[in-house]
Amino acid sequence: MRVLIIEDEARLARNIAQVLKESANFAVDVCTEGVDGLHLAKTNPYDLIVLDLTLPGMDGLDILGKLRSAGKTVAVLILTARDTSSDIITGFNTGGDDYLTKPFDMGELVARCKALVRRAYGQTHPEIKVGKLTIDTVARRVKFNNREIRFTAMEYRTLEYLGMRAGQIVSKTELLEHLYDFNWERFSNVMEVYISALRRKLDPDRKYDLIETVRGQGYLLKEK
Ligand code: CA
Repeated sequence: MRVLIIEDEARLARNIAQVLKESANFAVDVCTEGVDGLHLAKTNPYDLIVLDLTLPGMDGLDILGKLRSAGKTVAVLILTARDTSSDIITGFNTGGDDYLTKPFDMGELVARCKALVRRAYGQTHPEIKVGKLTIDTVARRVKFNNREIRFTAMEYRTLEYLGMRAGQIVSKTELLEHLYDFNWERFSNVMEVYISALRRKLDPDRKYDLIETVRGQGYLLKEK
């Protein structure tokens, strides 16, 4: 999952990015200016945007309004010091999906971000079940056939994404766009490496074809 933070207090933005990477295992991009923030939000398929309102360049509400006018459905959590009921109502009525006022608790921010991303993929339970496969997105634990399997952070991120999109073909481009921040070199065979590690760890005896390669289209996580 990939998140954009638009926040001009650089230190706060860095802290949020760090926590979302560590606690939620998200790929995170940070932007500290409004016009650039809008451009990034329009040109990348983010799963969530954490949006400050008082920003240099362009106000957060203008960014949100422009995104919604452009038909962008990305989940947006407004994170701001503007804390009156009328501010909050305006935030929702402009197209915000959630609203958190500063000062805030980091744990609460992470939980809200995870809930928004789940909902965006039509998942409501924090545990994703696909046949014999269970992905606990809170504890980041994976079981297949009642056996717990340990993954690296990137392997887990890949599997969680495929789990959210279970039963649908996911192209390599889609995986790269949703699992990596913009500092990453994306033109490599890195996806094949992760997919093959997932297959090996999930199903060492190769009894199940859990992650199918659909030639020329991508990968498909199937119910087994
Ligand atoms: Ca600000």
